[in-house]
Amino acid sequence: MQEQIDQLRAMPVPPRQLFIDGRHEPASSGAVLDVVSPINGTVLTTIADGAAADIDRAVAVARRAFEVDGWSRAAPAMRKKVLLKFAELIEKHALELAVLGVRDNGTEISMALKAEPGSAAGTFRYYAEAIDKVYGEIAPTADNVLGLVHREPLGVVGVIVPWNFPLMIGAWKIAPALAAGNTVVVKPPEAASLALLRLAELASEAGLPDGVLNVVTGRGAVAGEALGLHMDVDVLAFTGSGATGRRLLEYAARSNLKRIYLELGGKSPNIVFADAPDLDQAAKVSASGIFRNSGQVCVAGSRLLVQSSVYDSFMDALLSVTGKLKVGDPLDVASDIGAVASAEQLEKNLGFVETAEREGAERLAGGGRLLAETGGSYMAPTVFAGVTPDMTLAREEVFGPVLAVSRFETEEEAVKLANSTVYGLASAVWTSNLSTAHRMVRAIRAGVVHVNTYGGADITVPLGGFKQSGFGRDKSLHALAEYSDLKTAWIAL
Ligand code: NAD
Repeated sequence: MQEQIDQLRAMPVPPRQLFIDGRHEPASSGAVLDVVSPINGTVLTTIADGAAADIDRAVAVARRAFEVDGWSRAAPAMRKKVLLKFAELIEKHALELAVLGVRDNGTEISMALKAEPGSAAGTFRYYAEAIDKVYGEIAPTADNVLGLVHREPLGVVGVIVPWNFPLMIGAWKIAPALAAGNTVVVKPPEAASLALLRLAELASEAGLPDGVLNVVTGRGAVAGEALGLHMDVDVLAFTGSGATGRRLLEYAARSNLKRIYLELGGKSPNIVFADAPDLDQAAKVSASGIFRNSGQVCVAGSRLLVQSSVYDSFMDALLSVTGKLKVGDPLDVASDIGAVASAEQLEKNLGFVETAEREGAERLAGGGRLLAETGGSYMAPTVFAGVTPDMTLAREEVFGPVLAVSRFETEEEAVKLANSTVYGLASAVWTSNLSTAHRMVRAIRAGVVHVNTYGGADITVPLGGFKQSGFGRDKSLHALAEYSDLKTAWIAL
């Protein structure tokens, strides 16, 4: 596989244009943005710097594809066939998509392959299969009427995603939106647009009608804002930071009250009780739960809470695993951890390290930049102990490879610490006691509570946040409800 990866990485990436109505076109201003690879800091290619006029064009095309061309009314069997073919093409081009994405955002290739094209293909297949299996309802009315409850698509769906897993997260929104019969305009992240552009080309190749899926690259504050403010966008599905999420709610209020779904950040607690079934395994999984993709994972277990009686032995195991992680070229299959997505993100991470030290946390591992000679953005897996709830590291999302460790004595204290942030995205509990596990599942305010593992959930279960981690759910059949609405037909007989 390494040989194929090396061949793909050597291929030049031509300048990429917008993808609207099944065609490539430049931004109407002609402006472009450089795409800088975090692997070595060089300019990989350019993308079109789309703006309001381009968003207007894409939304108009998507509206036409929805209403006039009739994607919303296309036979379910036809929509299913196209989306299944799309999934097949994503699988066929998996390595190409993964390598392109990694050149753009630096995720280690082993993870990128599974999480990006691998997961995107599975997601399109799952929602394709659902198209002809989700039914409307007949209400239990009196005999002289018939009450039918239809599910209808909403119209044009805007999708805005972050740079950590653009294909996976993009698919979680695009697939149910298309399956429900909507058309879509995607605004990819500036720091990782290439794989999504390629995805849209594959959709066309699979037979998705022109205009059903459009991609407008560009800056968040320009193209993203235009999508958020657009009067003809019915839904905006977003994953990204809380700050941008707040802006989108304002845009909706200032424009057409479009529905907004927000999947925001997290500061997820990973709680190790003394009776965890296998502390070494817990240490290994906990390290990967925070350090994979350089910690740029919304559900990362960034707060480790360890029961005092096993604290020392658990931390020895954790630091031993952490010390063995190989940070390096993300396109080398031997690397455990690749690059941080951009030089700016690396600076931000190092800022958190400085603050943690200033506030009195104890650095046990990492803390600095690595491989500076490559010109890329690499950071050592970093562990801070003695983190108290008032410290910045306990409260704010780093979105980098920085773990905050605290100890606790009792279950009650663990719950209090776990729920002590404004976030509520993910969590984990390690225990052999079934009752403890169930009590913790009920007590933790988060969209997912893992038990004796961290991560790894599949498309069949929903993902989303409590509290300031957002609202709305990606994945599972529940996500179809975000992209459709109920209509009643009340028929006198
Ligand atoms: P970000 O909010 O800066 O950017 C996300 C997207 O929003 C990008 O496409 C960006 O171009 C766009 N954007 C930026 N400003 C905008 C504006 N004013 N109007 C419209 N769009 C705008 O976030 P990021 O730094 O790319 O991603 C990191 C954040 O995403 C972290 O907080 C992380 O936790 C979160 N995240 C959450 C999940 C989840 O499922 N909950 C998954 C991955 C990442």
